[in-house]
Amino acid sequence: MTSRLSRLVVALVATAGATLGVTVANPAPASAAMTICYNTSQAGSYAGIAGQAASIWNNATVNLTLSANCGSNLRIYQITGGGSYAQRTSLGNGRVYIDTQQAAQYSPLRIMTHEIGHILGLPDNYNGNCSLLMSGGSAGTSCTNPYPSTAEANRVSNLFAGTFSATDRSADIFRDSWPSVLTPVS
Ligand SMILES: [Zn+2]
Repeated sequence: MTSRLSRLVVALVATAGATLGVTVANPAPASAAMTICYNTSQAGSYAGIAGQAASIWNNATVNLTLSANCGSNLRIYQITGGGSYAQRTSLGNGRVYIDTQQAAQYSPLRIMTHEIGHILGLPDNYNGNCSLLMSGGSAGTSCTNPYPSTAEANRVSNLFAGTFSATDRSADIFRDSWPSVLTPVS
């Protein structure tokens, strides 16, 4: 009875230690990039743009690789109306929705890379700066920059190296303001 109890205690301590280790360590070994499989089967006319956005993120970052046709960490949808948005279920996992009405006014590639940026852990930063990707629609329809800044890209690389906070990797929904050109915000 006593030895059985002590074995149980040992097992519980080991489990607690392992659980603690998971919260501290990265989701993937630091030496190996996390593969984020994206699925464009419901991306409609934006499937090709999703591929371009994946290449942009892959070229700008380390510790992660967006890859097609290997699974569904990230599903991309074409929708009409309601606005583009990203639904992150965890770091590197979720869904991206591209609104055809917004994509008719703003650069579809910029919208795509921005929304994927949310899946990769970035928040919005609506400061109107076109050199930033996460400034989104605040930079206006003339801004077609689809590239993350060095700081934005480095932040993603660091997140996937394991230096993330709970907020960065938590489930969240980012409903984006890409304002209509008919009702401009100054
Ligand atoms: Zn956003």
